[in-house]
Amino acid sequence: SSSDSVISSDSAGGEQSAEPGSPYRVVLLGGSGVGKTAFASIFAGAADSMDSDDCELCGDEVCEKEIEVDGETATIILLDTWDAEMENDWALERYVQTGDAYLLLYSITDRASFLRASELRISLRRLRPARHTPIILVGNKCDLVRRREVSTNEARACAAVFDCKFIETSTAMQHNVWEAFYGIVRQLRLRRDSKEN
Ligand code: GDP
Repeated sequence: SSSDSVISSDSAGGEQSAEPGSPYRVVLLGGSGVGKTAFASIFAGAADSMDSDDCELCGDEVCEKEIEVDGETATIILLDTWDAEMENDWALERYVQTGDAYLLLYSITDRASFLRASELRISLRRLRPARHTPIILVGNKCDLVRRREVSTNEARACAAVFDCKFIETSTAMQHNVWEAFYGIVRQLRLRRDSKEN
């Protein structure tokens, strides 16, 4: 099926995405309940977004969409196929090979999910050792201020150690979700441009 080919074809090197116009495969990673599904449905324009027709290939787990970032169109294939319950090294290895860039989610209300994000970051470094693989650490549910278990400063420091970007989001408030995607596209372009030069 078309969604199968999206996930599996040419996934090894991700070199195709070095060409302008070819889709970027962005992978959602993170523990259970952190908001990956909610993130993906905002991307897909599920709720009341005006541009839901733009989603060319949308299923539960894979969605392809064009977005405009800094005046230039980018095509993103968002993969939300990670089953946090079934994770093991083999599954993770196979899964991360499908991506050009990663959104590493945790919930600010759940310290265990933050620790899980750290573990996933370490696994990513091992499985995708390329130095400039774009990764954004995403602290979701920032609307739940009174249930916060992970401070912004701690997470920012952690991201610096991880050598990745950091953003806090709320899918419930639709806050910073698109900024996370814009950030990923900007990083992918920087990598693309540095390869060209
Ligand atoms: P997943 O397991 O990572 O796919 O997590 P889900 O997207 O299914 O979200 C788990 C639960 O957290 C659901 O009940 C969501 O409604 C809720 N949730 C997700 N994001 C937010 C958020 O930003 N704020 C709040 N308050 N709840 C959220």
